[in-house]
Amino acid sequence: MNLAGQLYKLQQLDLELQKRQQELNEVENQLSDNKALVAAESKIASQKEQLEDARRKQKSSEWELEDLQEKVRQIDSKLYSGKTKDPKELVNLEKEVKSLKSQIGPKEDALLGLMSQVEEIEARVKTTTEEIKRLKREWEQRQETFGQRKSEVEALLARLRGDRNGLAQQIDSEALNTYERIRLTRGQAVVKVERGKCQGCHITVSTSQWQKAKAGDLIQCNSCSRILYLE
Ligand SMILES: [Zn+2]
Repeated sequence: MNLAGQLYKLQQLDLELQKRQQELNEVENQLSDNKALVAAESKIASQKEQLEDARRKQKSSEWELEDLQEKVRQIDSKLYSGKTKDPKELVNLEKEVKSLKSQIGPKEDALLGLMSQVEEIEARVKTTTEEIKRLKREWEQRQETFGQRKSEVEALLARLRGDRNGLAQQIDSEALNTYERIRLTRGQAVVKVERGKCQGCHITVSTSQWQKAKAGDLIQCNSCSRILYLE
């Protein structure tokens, strides 16, 4: 293989290395991406807070209602025990019990409202719990699949780097520098000549250049500076 041929082969290895390195980055992104899980966990934390709050409100509403009912019971028993004889006091007690009883209905309605709020939030917590379970399963599955792929790609990269370094050692260092320099600015440093044209810039290569390149000299395209390779 002539020098341009070796550089062409080196370039193929470099392109493959680049592609595999990109793949490795994507695989690593997949492995570390837990945004959905983190979001779901923060959602359930706030839902649980809401639930606690709603349960507290429900409890205190239950206590208020019990207090009210207890007061009504006490006054009723005073009224009907016959112990209270004073008519004025009896009238007052009746007024009071009437006012207390009128508060029971609205309190019961409020309690029912709070109970249904608790139920609603409980249902939301349940949905999010299931969502988290599913996301965790997916996460584990992803770790398995991409973890395996990561090892494969890493092994491939190691092999490619070995091949690449082995080949680079056989290539004249000045030619290697030229290759690296063109690669930096042009992306592709070595191009084939097909139908007399440089495949980098599609300008016709002069016959003398063409002949020198064919003979194995390191020839760069006059127009784009890429290294010309003829098979
Ligand atoms: Zn060119």
